Amino acid sequence: MTLIAKKIKELAKDVGYVDCGIASTELFSEFSAAIDQRIREFPALACEYEKMRKRAFPRQNNPWANAIVVCVHWYGKYRIPENISNGIGRSYLFDRRNSDCPDHDLPERMKKGLEQLGLRVRRGGVPDRWAAVRAGVARFGRNNFVYTEKHGSWLNIEPFLVDAELTPDEPSYEIACPDSCRLCVEECPTKALQRPFCMRFDHCIAYLSYNAPEPIEPELWRLMGPWVYGCDQCQLVCPLNADKWREREAAEWLEKMAPYLSTDALAEMDDATYREVVQPAFWYIAADEVERWRRNARRARDRVLG
Ligand code: SF4
Ligand code: SF4
Repeated sequence: MTLIAKKIKELAKDVGYVDCGIASTELFSEFSAAIDQRIREFPALACEYEKMRKRAFPRQNNPWANAIVVCVHWYGKYRIPENISNGIGRSYLFDRRNSDCPDHDLPERMKKGLEQLGLRVRRGGVPDRWAAVRAGVARFGRNNFVYTEKHGSWLNIEPFLVDAELTPDEPSYEIACPDSCRLCVEECPTKALQRPFCMRFDHCIAYLSYNAPEPIEPELWRLMGPWVYGCDQCQLVCPLNADKWREREAAEWLEKMAPYLSTDALAEMDDATYREVVQPAFWYIAADEVERWRRNARRARDRVLG
């Protein structure tokens, strides 16, 4: 490993990432091919898929970039406060972009550190998970999430384009899953995960819960069951995630919010609570759409009671 690569990896560790690898800036041809395949299968969603394609061409968009530094952030270290609805996806609970989360400024500190090493830097701009695999820091599971052996899929992948000529690390193209496992596909409530590696995003509960035009088709609405905001089902059933949520650290910012985040509280949440407490931390539902939260939470609550 060259001295600069060593320094970059030490920096990532000091900043708080659990791993860091180096990838080339070549075309992400597999990512582009995966987009082509989705468009063939779901032509009505072509526009949405096409929006993602530009990330396949890091060099074309950033001719100065010579390598990708791929950092791994693990949020499975936090204790989930009691009473918080199980229907909120964990990546949203522990979203590092929330300014009260202690990991909030990880990318900024990494970017500054890279600049102090004399590098030109741009955050993002590549397909995160594919970059992680190319950099050898994670492997794909059949649910399309990426996994590390030590941390499961409770990860954020944060890539940085840099101008340094760095030798890429060995990619990890082999998938993470045992041969016979298909649990994620079998347990996907809406069958959005239609087969391994093929997820129809407009049927995914995450999209349906906060982004899809309403009203949601009644059968999909029923299948959303206990999920209020996002969905973790294909990660929760995954054997690769067994014992990977370690709950070592208190999530103080979330503990303060916990009384407002039970399914019951969300179902009856008043406008002021939504505006002042919930929406600033969970911003995928717009500030004037509190009723969407209430409907999602009431479905989840009534399903549990029923
Ligand atoms: S997040 Fe939920 S709905 Fe989406 S693919 Fe996974 S299990 Fe299915
Ligand atoms: S549930 Fe099984 S098939 Fe799906 S990602 Fe996990 S190990 Fe792979």
